Amino acid sequence: MTPLRHLLLEESAELLRSALSSFRYDLKPHEIGHILGIENGVVRLCGLPGVKTMEVLRLPGETYAVALNLDPGAVGAVMLDPEERLGIDDKVFRCHRVLDIPVGAELLGRIIDPLGRPLDEEEPLDALERWPVERAAPPIMDRAPVEVPLQTGIKVIDALVPIGRGQRELILGDRQTGKTTLAVDTILNQHDQEVICIYCAIGQRAQSVARVIARLREGDAMKYCIVVSATGDCPAGLQFMAPYAATTVGEWFMSQGRDVLLVYDDLSRHADAYRELSLLLRRPPGREAYPGDVFYLHSRLLERATQLNQASGGGSLTALPIAETQAQNISAYIPTNLISITDGQLYLSPERFQRGEMPAVDVGKSVSRVGGKAQLPAYREVAGQLKLAYAQYEELETFARFGTRLDDRTREAIERGRRVRELLKQDEGDALTPAQQVAVLLALNLGLFDSLPVAEVRPAERRIREKLQSQPALIRRIEDGEPLTSSDLEALSHLAEVAIGELS
Ligand code: ATP
Ligand code: MG
Repeated sequence: MTPLRHLLLEESAELLRSALSSFRYDLKPHEIGHILGIENGVVRLCGLPGVKTMEVLRLPGETYAVALNLDPGAVGAVMLDPEERLGIDDKVFRCHRVLDIPVGAELLGRIIDPLGRPLDEEEPLDALERWPVERAAPPIMDRAPVEVPLQTGIKVIDALVPIGRGQRELILGDRQTGKTTLAVDTILNQHDQEVICIYCAIGQRAQSVARVIARLREGDAMKYCIVVSATGDCPAGLQFMAPYAATTVGEWFMSQGRDVLLVYDDLSRHADAYRELSLLLRRPPGREAYPGDVFYLHSRLLERATQLNQASGGGSLTALPIAETQAQNISAYIPTNLISITDGQLYLSPERFQRGEMPAVDVGKSVSRVGGKAQLPAYREVAGQLKLAYAQYEELETFARFGTRLDDRTREAIERGRRVRELLKQDEGDALTPAQQVAVLLALNLGLFDSLPVAEVRPAERRIREKLQSQPALIRRIEDGEPLTSSDLEALSHLAEVAIGELS
């Protein structure tokens, strides 16, 4: 071979090699997978060796899935869209990004799914910045104690089980006990509180989500609200992602120094969706057939709720997760997990609900572990004695039912208790301002309602609330967190006496 021919051969081989390498790079043949099997929202794939956990995969017909199981032989992914039109051997493409959601102030007033696709027939949200759905919780050093109250406007909560901004308070109860109503009333009460509210529906009936949205629209609350919805007819994968996506949306506002309230309705359905996916992904079942990491599922979610310190912007994320109990069993697996993760729970009793004592909060089984420190000081004057009086009444009530002869003190305690119970009733959407609550509860503590028949208690309450309007300076002081002075107490009790006097 002449040296010239040798050189030519060498050169063409080099050319061929470089062409081949770029050819291989462009096609990325190792990035296209194939479907091995589809089963109830879970797909098994082969041929994606580089795929990451939580990475988005694109399937035919603009449908998406997210990779969860990375086994050596096959990848297990959960569908985020209906799977009807997919078949065995269909191609699957990597998207080279983990699951994310649009974030930003433009989301206010919108109704979206957990992938950020609008459900409200308004413009798409493609232009917005996207944040990953799974994010690490803020480190301890960035956190601050819970100190600012989150006013729900519901007497029994604000007075007896107060919630603070950055707290996680579980709403627990059987079906149809007013759980959603409690959460939505709390959202509606934030209209003048500068709190961004996010309602995250997980596995709910489309009709009940529509009802919540209608209530928010009626109350003109959508301007500070976002709804993230994955209803019961959505694929389980989408339901599983919903609370994480909603939290990411909330975290963006928190990073801007805003206060955020997040309602997860409900996490029992979320655990069920995860159980379904895990069983289909062949993960080993544990107690009640839930996978072993179901506790981690909720703890990594709720750990993201916090109050940040000033150096980190001072924002907060308050979480109100809802959980459904079966036949009042609060010691079932998911409820006990959630009780131990959260900073307290509001237990709604179906018996109270049936007796018409709404909101059906069972004070004895409800607790708030951190909110007490955040409660407005004026409440301390009136709420401490209330809990005691109510607890005594609940004990005595059983005796009184048998027509036992009672001494005067017991009869007094029972009469007071009856009025406490009557006064803690509150209609849907009838929020009270802190000053109204303090005025009414003070009148109760002073025994001003004792002379009235029980049926007259709520009309009297209404009258006190009306009369209070004439004291704007006092209202402002209570809401600014100043303790009540003796002249304030005198003014409030005088006002209540006059109001009640007009009735009797
Ligand atoms: P589900 O288990 O179906 O999710 P739930 O526990 O969320 O139910 P809600 O849907 O909030 O319960 O309430 C059930 C019904 O009770 C609704 O019709 C609601 O209007 C009524 N209700 C709830 N709270 C009150 C209240 N304080 N006053 C009057 N009605 C109420
Ligand atoms: Mg509900």
